[in-house]
Amino acid sequence: MIASWRRIPEANRGYIVAMASVAAAAIAVFVLRDFLSRSTFVLFAAPVAIGVFVGVGLLVVHLNGLIRAARADAQRYASQMEEQAMELEETHRALEASASAQLAEAQSLARLGSWEWDIAGDKVIWSDEMYRLYGLEPGSEVIDFARYQSLLHPDDRDQVADVVARAIENLEDFSYDHRVVRADGPVRIFHARGRVIVGPDGTPIRMLGTGQDVTESRRAEAALRNATEYAAKQASAEAAARHLNRVFAQAPVVIAVLKGSDHTFELANASALELLGAADVLGKNVKEVVSDDVLTAFGSLLDNVYTTGEPFVGRELPARFPGGPEAATRYFNFVFQPLSDEAEVYGVLVVATEVTDLVGARIKAEQAQNEAMGASRAKSDFLARMSHELRTPLAAIIGYGELLADGITGPVNEEQKKQLMRIRWSANHLLSIIDEILTLARMEAGKERVDAHDVEVPQLLESVASMAEPLAAAKGLRFNLDLQPDEITVMTDPVKLRQVLLNLISNAVKYTDSGAITLSSHAADGQVHFHVDDTGIGVSPEHIEKIFEPFWQVEQTTTRRAGGTGLGLAVTREFVDLLGGSISVESEVGRGSSFRVTLPRA
Ligand code: ADP
Repeated sequence: MIASWRRIPEANRGYIVAMASVAAAAIAVFVLRDFLSRSTFVLFAAPVAIGVFVGVGLLVVHLNGLIRAARADAQRYASQMEEQAMELEETHRALEASASAQLAEAQSLARLGSWEWDIAGDKVIWSDEMYRLYGLEPGSEVIDFARYQSLLHPDDRDQVADVVARAIENLEDFSYDHRVVRADGPVRIFHARGRVIVGPDGTPIRMLGTGQDVTESRRAEAALRNATEYAAKQASAEAAARHLNRVFAQAPVVIAVLKGSDHTFELANASALELLGAADVLGKNVKEVVSDDVLTAFGSLLDNVYTTGEPFVGRELPARFPGGPEAATRYFNFVFQPLSDEAEVYGVLVVATEVTDLVGARIKAEQAQNEAMGASRAKSDFLARMSHELRTPLAAIIGYGELLADGITGPVNEEQKKQLMRIRWSANHLLSIIDEILTLARMEAGKERVDAHDVEVPQLLESVASMAEPLAAAKGLRFNLDLQPDEITVMTDPVKLRQVLLNLISNAVKYTDSGAITLSSHAADGQVHFHVDDTGIGVSPEHIEKIFEPFWQVEQTTTRRAGGTGLGLAVTREFVDLLGGSISVESEVGRGSSFRVTLPRA
């Protein structure tokens, strides 16, 4: 009860007491109205009224005092509040100043500036640090986009314009590196970041961002990258060197590097050590390592390469080295290559390849070839001599046969004449065989020579035709000479070419019973082609390759009937080879054959 009374403010408590006193006096007057006579009432009421008045007066005085005290309190509070507000404002201002100083400090430390770009008004607000980063006095000039562009490195301007345009179009954040040419000279690398701010209608109105000078960190990154790349390159170079060393050590050829005028071994691979029969030669000079023989053979050559700088290449040189089989002479291909830096020759690279086996094989092959050639020559000589020995008596047989047949030595009857004709035919046949054997033998002995000169092809063909026509006519065959209107010449041996064509024509006549033989030629692509076509028995495909082999005939009975030797086409092909040409045949059994000879025109 007392506690709740105390909680009521003092002024209100005064009011409550005054009101309560008036109410108590009024209640007492009302209750006692019947007991009190009018006079008593008046007597009683007057002091009561006075008492009430005095009480109320005292109460009012007290209340006034209370109000004054409260007002004084309020004024004090107000001035305190004002003081506090001023203090707060001061603190706020100090804080603001220190925050922006800190921001500026932080920006300067980070070499980072901030900017804001009013896109529509094209006005850029830069922080002080931003100006400094561009080498300008803070606030010294108004920046717009064009001015900003002008401060960039010329090569980066288009790229920056692109990035900014894309950010505005796509409303996206951006970040990129670009170069700046600072007002005070140096080119610096900046990293820019930005964000587009859109208005209520969604269109871009401003752009905020930062620019940071990252030259040092980018350079450090590049240096790191370079260092990493260099390390990788070095590692791969080392691996390559190791590989090269392995190859060098295991190479199956002798490799050594000799340094200086006394030829000191600087490098020697396993093959070199093996050849020299030494475990270690490095640091020793050639005199200490190789035998006197070798030194005599190669010492002056090495000196020469070292002093002149001219390489030496020697093939199949005999040499004796301590390594390998004793006493045996071995053969080597040597290369002495001068080694020089920019200024002068400092050594000689020696590469030696052993070719003993090769030389041995070659010597054997040469011996075998010489023997074979000797044997072949002996055979050809024998054949040539034999042929010659056979020809002489044969010529006598033919001559005396003719004398007898002509009746010069006395009369001969018809039967004797017939037999003499057979003797003559057989003797002539034998003579042609001997001639062909003689030609082949001469050719194999390499005695056949080409006597080439410019030959008019039409003339040559006409002369061949004049010899061939009687042959064909004797068998009732037509002979055609198909001459081209233009003059063709060929550089060749006319005697051999005539022989080739006559051989082919006489075969054509031999193996054709009816129809025609045609001789023709044409020139194309620097070559002359000669054709001998017939309408004879032809050659089957399985025999076509064999007909050029000596003594080979398709069918004994036919050829014997026709009087062949099996040597004609062999001789023909040898002649064509000798003239630098080629021969081929196309044939169909029962329809005829076509032989083609091709010679180079020049
Ligand atoms: P030969 O003296 O027997 O004619 P060749 O070396 O000239 O010897 O010919 C070899 C064989 O090739 C002949 O025996 C013959 O069978 C065949 N031959 C060559 N020319 C012709 C041809 N024009 N027509 C058909 N067969 C041919």
